[in-house]
Amino acid sequence: MNPVILNCLKEKFRLSSFRDGQRDAIESILQKKDTLCILPTGGGKSLIYQLPSAIYTDGITIVISPLISLMKDQVEYLNSIGVPAMFSNSSQDELEQLKAVSLAVNSKIKLLYLSPERALSSYFLKMIQKMKINLVAIDEAHCISQWGNDFRPEYKELGKLRKLPNMQSIPFVALTATATKKVSDDIIHSLQMEFPTVVQKSFFRKNLLFKVHFAESEVEKEKILVQKIKEQTAKDSKSRIIIYCATRNKTEEVQKILKENGISSSIYHAGKTDKFREKAQTSYAMGKSKILVATNAFGMGVDFPDIRLVLHFQVPASVESYYQESGRAGRDGKDSECVLICKESDFQVQNFIIRKEKNYKGMETLLSHMRGYTLETECRQKFICAYFGEEVDHCGKCDLCLEKDSHQVHGYIQKQTQKKKKIELSHEWQEQDRESLYQCLRDFPAMYGKKIISSILKGSKTKDIYKRKLDKSNCYGLLKHIPEDSIQLEIEMGVQSGKILVKGDKYPKLYLKGFPAVPKPKKQLSGNSKPLSADASLLRELKNFRDREARKMKWKKFMVMQNSVLLRIAKQKPNSKQDLKLIKGVGDQRIEKYSEEILRIVSKYI
Ligand SMILES: [Zn+2]
Repeated sequence: MNPVILNCLKEKFRLSSFRDGQRDAIESILQKKDTLCILPTGGGKSLIYQLPSAIYTDGITIVISPLISLMKDQVEYLNSIGVPAMFSNSSQDELEQLKAVSLAVNSKIKLLYLSPERALSSYFLKMIQKMKINLVAIDEAHCISQWGNDFRPEYKELGKLRKLPNMQSIPFVALTATATKKVSDDIIHSLQMEFPTVVQKSFFRKNLLFKVHFAESEVEKEKILVQKIKEQTAKDSKSRIIIYCATRNKTEEVQKILKENGISSSIYHAGKTDKFREKAQTSYAMGKSKILVATNAFGMGVDFPDIRLVLHFQVPASVESYYQESGRAGRDGKDSECVLICKESDFQVQNFIIRKEKNYKGMETLLSHMRGYTLETECRQKFICAYFGEEVDHCGKCDLCLEKDSHQVHGYIQKQTQKKKKIELSHEWQEQDRESLYQCLRDFPAMYGKKIISSILKGSKTKDIYKRKLDKSNCYGLLKHIPEDSIQLEIEMGVQSGKILVKGDKYPKLYLKGFPAVPKPKKQLSGNSKPLSADASLLRELKNFRDREARKMKWKKFMVMQNSVLLRIAKQKPNSKQDLKLIKGVGDQRIEKYSEEILRIVSKYI
């Protein structure tokens, strides 16, 4: 391997080795080839474009990323290791933006992070042509595809960058954590990638031992926690440990418990000041404190190869977060443990936290998969990989593979399965029933979650059903003789066995294995409804814009703009600030802030 690459890895990024896939991707980029990377979350995707950028002596890398907070973290991190970088997005004032552009034009920085909207603005399309560009990196590339879980219309237009005169022979790298065949094809097509190198790695981590401890009470959980930590430090006094909690209060409590047991630890959560967090992180990085108690605020851009134990003291909100957080263990490939300590009521606590969120229904489903993980009886890694759509063998390492007859696990699971049995006994499933369920999943591939699918089959008369005209579907009421919770359980079991797959983070949707997750055009559903009109797609784009702003500001969506106002805009299609002002519900402040972007979106539909 090229010694320059290894040197840079060690000297600049202070890493001793590459993770799966990183090296192939970096070599492909340095050979100026288009590259598509599908690597699990936490698989070290950012290094893939950061390292080549640090190697190039002249010119810059453009990074397109949808998340402002992530841009900021990465830019801070890069500057701290001596790789000059800047970002330009709507959180900055004009002066800062101009500064970023001028530094980029003069190749005084090595990476420039941009949001997709910014990159495609006419100003930037002009300025980019004045830059010497070595590489274009598209992060979260699944946003390009409408079959992905987070489609963003602006992403679809990123192909425009390719057409700029100075971009003809520049390699593009697209990075994503989840991509079905359909999504990767879309990415390749949209970005006009030519014979790209595709780097795709498994979700399976052979050096990780996954374990779940069940407890009856909080006291018992604490006991297990202390015991676990003591065991680990006795085994290897140098091991780094992270303890994740769901709430800030809990991190403080856990730190206290550890202290009472003579174990010192640092603490990290979003409620602490920047200075405090920095201190905690540095002390952990330097190895002064070996144990860090943290909320999920800890981890972004953080990479320690030698974390030997990641212990979750509370249930995380989804399998995605669990995989990402626990996956911070054993990055150096050495044996490490991922332990979850839980008791039944923890799911209610997490549910309570979730219910404060607007989109809590989707999150509830995600949490139910996490519950599925704790109740898994075969193999924990197999469960995780199946969740992400990958089929693997038993890991031979997890508590289930090793301790099949452990009383603890067994007893708990038995109790849970008794509950399940009750539901199961309420109806004995026939092959024909199951076929009806599959039929429904085939008719609506990756369109709905468990709740709606079971409502369709049951023939429920709910708002959700009527709103979507699902009572007209061929499957409506096919299983009206079966209790709804029994249908839901059958779906859950299908998911666990891998027959039914789940797509999407926020709104998990179901589809049948072997049937591509491609939604049918809407008109096939009711026979007489029209295809998506220009207004509807304009409205969708406006909503996407509004939702993004809300996320950015951490506001509720209606605080940015109400649906009714967006609808009026989509209908009236204003083409000037004055016209926009005339629309009911658009205040002066909103005009100041959003008019430019709204008019830009509308102009595409006039
Ligand atoms: Zn296993």
